[in-house]
Amino acid sequence: MDSEKPHVVLLSSPGMGHLIPILELGHRLITLHSLRITVLVVATDPSTVRSHLHNQPADVRDLLEVVFLPPVDISPYVGPSTAILSVLVLMMRHSMPLVRSSIDGMRSPRPSALIVDLFATGAFDIAEEFGMLKYVFDTSNAWFLALTVYHPHLPESEENRHVVDHEQLDIPGCPSLVYDDTVDVYMNPENRILHEDYAEMGRDMAKADGILINSWEELEPATLKALRDPKLLAKFSLPSVYPIGPIVRSVEPIGGSSFDCGEIILSWLNKQPQESVLYVSFGSGGTLCIEQMTELAWGLEMSGQRFIWVVRPPTVDQKWGSLFKLKKNGLTRLDDGTPEYLPEGFITRTKEQGLVVPLWAPQTQILAHKATGGFFSHCGWNSTLESIVNGVPMICWPLYAEQKMNATMLSEHLGMAVRSKKAGTDRVLPRKVIETMVREVMGRDTAEGKRLRSTVREIQRMANAALEEGGSSYDALSKVVKQCEIKVQEAKERARGA
Ligand code: UDP
Repeated sequence: MDSEKPHVVLLSSPGMGHLIPILELGHRLITLHSLRITVLVVATDPSTVRSHLHNQPADVRDLLEVVFLPPVDISPYVGPSTAILSVLVLMMRHSMPLVRSSIDGMRSPRPSALIVDLFATGAFDIAEEFGMLKYVFDTSNAWFLALTVYHPHLPESEENRHVVDHEQLDIPGCPSLVYDDTVDVYMNPENRILHEDYAEMGRDMAKADGILINSWEELEPATLKALRDPKLLAKFSLPSVYPIGPIVRSVEPIGGSSFDCGEIILSWLNKQPQESVLYVSFGSGGTLCIEQMTELAWGLEMSGQRFIWVVRPPTVDQKWGSLFKLKKNGLTRLDDGTPEYLPEGFITRTKEQGLVVPLWAPQTQILAHKATGGFFSHCGWNSTLESIVNGVPMICWPLYAEQKMNATMLSEHLGMAVRSKKAGTDRVLPRKVIETMVREVMGRDTAEGKRLRSTVREIQRMANAALEEGGSSYDALSKVVKQCEIKVQEAKERARGA
C-alpha cells in the first residue's frame, strides 16, 4: 500500500528559520495525511541541522527521509556587500544540479510534487521535467507574500516615491508599507542584483501550481482577499494561495543538542512563578553590536524582571551574523562568568534574576513553559508563530529581512506586542527605553499588560481552531494533498494506458 501514497519532495534553503517550517510541514503531511516525504536540505552548517534533527521527537525522525545535499562553493560570486537574499538565491541556484540528480534517483514511487521555499523556485524547471506538481511554501505571512508578488510589477514612479522620497508603498488591497518598515531591496536601490533576485522570486510565483503560506485565513483576511482578487494581486497570474499555518515545531525533548543547556534552563524555569520570565532571543541568525548589547543588559537588569537571554558574540555591521553558522568561539568570560562583551559583573548581579544562555536555547520548550510571560524577539516569523501558539506577548526588535513588517503587524495590526520604532535601526536604543518596554510586556497587573495577554490568547485560540480538522488551515492543506493524489492517479492511468 505504501507505494500508493503520494511521494512529495520538500526543498529547503539554508538557515534554521527556513528548514524548521519545511520539516514541520513534512511532519504534518506524514502524520495527518499519510504522504511519503523526502526533504532535500541545502545546509551551510550540516552539524547544526543534524543536532536539530536529533532533538526532534522520535516519530518525526523516523518518518522523514532527510537528504543532505553536498555543500556548494559560491565564494567566487559573493562579496562583503552581497545581500543575504542574493546569497541564498545563489546557493540554491548552484545546488540545482544536485537537486536534479537527487530527484532523478527517486523511485517507487516517483515523487508527484515538489514543494520549495521562496529561494528555491529555480527548481520548478526540474519539477516540470519530471512531471511533478510544483508549490512554493512561503514560510512567512500573507503581507510579505503580497509585497513579493507586487514587487516585479511596481511602477517605477511608485518605487521612486518609496525609495527616494521615503513615502509609504501602497500594495493593492493590503496594508501599506511605511518606509521605516521597508525591506532590504528598497533600502539598497543601487544593488541591482538584489532588486532582480527579488523580482524573479515574485515572478516565479506565477509558475507555481499553488502557494502555501505559514499564516491562516482568520489572521490576515484582507491581504488574502487581495491575493485572490483578479482586480488586485491575482491579476499577476497568481495561482491559488493556501494559508496552512501556523506550522510550528512541536515542543522538543530536552537534551542531546550540542548547543543547548536544556536541563539547566528547565530546572531554573520550574522554580519561577507563573508568567514571570521574559525570554530574550534573536532567532537563529540575529546579532547585535556591542553598544546595543550593553544597553540591553542594563535595561534587563534595571527592569528587575526575570529573564532568559540567548547571547551571541556581537557583530560590527551584520545583523544576521550567525545565520549560517553559530560560532562557538568568542565566548571569553570574565571572572564571574560574564562574557567580556556584557557589562562587568552582569552575571553576578543578575544571578537571582536571570539566565544567560550562550548561542542557542530550546526555544519551543521555553515558550511553552508556564513560567514564561513575555518574548523579546527579532520577530522572525517562526519565532512569532511559536509565541502565538503559546499565548506569549512580545517585545519587537526586528533586525533584517521582513522582520520590521512583522513587528508592525504584531504591534499595530494585531496589538499583541510592544515596540519602539527605533529598536533594530542603526541607532542604539538606550537602556531606559528597554526597561520601560520590558515592564510593559511583563506587567501582569497593569491595564496594558492585561490587554496584551488577552489579545495574544485570542489570536492563539484562532490559530488552534484553524489547525483542527475542519479548520481553515487543515482544509487548505487537504486541498493540496488532494491535488497530489489526483496527480498519482493520473500517472497510474497513463501507465495503464501505455
Ligand atoms: N531557535 C531556537 N533556539 C534559539 C534560536 C532560535 O530553537 O536559540 C529556533 C526558533 O524556535 C525558530 C527558529 O530557530 O523556530 C528561528 O526562526 P525565525 O523565523 O524566528 O528566525 P530566523 O532565524 O529565520 O531569523
